[in-house]
Amino acid sequence: MSGSILVVGGGFSGLTAAVEAAEMGYDVYLVENESYLGGRVAQLNKYFPKLCPPTCGLEINFKRVKTNPRIVFYTQASVGSVSGGPGDFRVEINVSPRYTTPQCNNCKSGEAAASTEVPNEFNFGLNTRKAIYMPHPMAFPNQCVVDPSVVGSDEGRKIKDAMPAGHVDLDQKPEAVTLNVGAIIIATGWKPYDATKMDRLCFGKYPNIVTNMMVERMASPSGPTGGKIVRPSDKSEPKRVGFVQCAGSRDKDHLPYCSYICCMATLKQALYLREQSPDTEIYIFYIDIRSPGMKYEKFYKKVKDDKKVHFIKGKVAEVKDGAVPGSVVLVAEDTIGGGKIEQEVDLAVLATGMQPTGAFNPISGIEYDTDGFVVPKDGIVPCGCAKRPVDVVSSAQSATAAALKAIQTLVRRAG
Ligand code: SF4
Repeated sequence: MSGSILVVGGGFSGLTAAVEAAEMGYDVYLVENESYLGGRVAQLNKYFPKLCPPTCGLEINFKRVKTNPRIVFYTQASVGSVSGGPGDFRVEINVSPRYTTPQCNNCKSGEAAASTEVPNEFNFGLNTRKAIYMPHPMAFPNQCVVDPSVVGSDEGRKIKDAMPAGHVDLDQKPEAVTLNVGAIIIATGWKPYDATKMDRLCFGKYPNIVTNMMVERMASPSGPTGGKIVRPSDKSEPKRVGFVQCAGSRDKDHLPYCSYICCMATLKQALYLREQSPDTEIYIFYIDIRSPGMKYEKFYKKVKDDKKVHFIKGKVAEVKDGAVPGSVVLVAEDTIGGGKIEQEVDLAVLATGMQPTGAFNPISGIEYDTDGFVVPKDGIVPCGCAKRPVDVVSSAQSATAAALKAIQTLVRRAG
């Protein structure tokens, strides 16, 4: 029997579950797939309810992780399999090499020497990064990563030679770790729905059709455009922006469920754009606007009262070339005004929904429903977006509840 808890996923919900359980006196292993903790929240410019930057919630949690010896965390690590049962799970973990050592302190000398540029996945390919990099400025741990593609190459050796002695270790090998834990919290989060799957919305065909997560990265001061939302084609500020709601969600051919966050994300991004340029006209094509709760309703009303934000109840059925170079026309049936509406915009934003990570990388030994959400079992507790689509606040609440459920498993087995 084991008295420790495994938390799979180091995003906002995983971090919350880990610190809550550890601060109750339980030993916690935290396993994160990426090279940093913080998950999707780290990619946002601002988040609800207070519209604060991600540093505001994440830094507190990083400090709680750093100062609590009961938490052992692994980054660049994935769970291979889970076996056993409540009180006595056996979990196989695979840890990929980072090729830097804990001495690395992001001194930038390797980055300056490197010449290979690859698309920056943290910024959804809106810019590039070097083959040695920090994924983002507040990444924790504050330790660079060497891209595996340059290990064994001249580029890899060049990076190593430019770095202080002992900071790069290109001989690191993947590691297998076996953990024995009493309960497992699954906090594996979500991915934005793949916009290329919706042919009618032409993502990838026109450069000035982007996703809502790309807008978050552009709006972030540490993002690829230094905080300006621009058209990828010519880096100009768009004066007419169209938002396409339910891009992939509430659609039996894609995601059958409502993704919960994308209406509020659009309202927030409309505000970013209106603050960026007072002349910008916004067109929001929606099926229903979902703004649950008093605070979100109030926010919706604030955006709705803005005369330059136009709400069109209608699903975008087609996208075609605009008259102005780089622009596109969004075509929909206006179900309130009646008739077909064709609106030309300089930038179109697809409010893509969330797809649980379980739909892509299911863990052997964990049960999922048909959409990829985790099915709870005795001793296996999903939380956050691994369980259902939720916002950051609900993620944290669900993670705290998951920590309690996991502790109950341990207490029951010990008794
Ligand atoms: Fe559609 Fe809004 Fe639900 Fe997102 S939150 S799926 S945009 S109704």
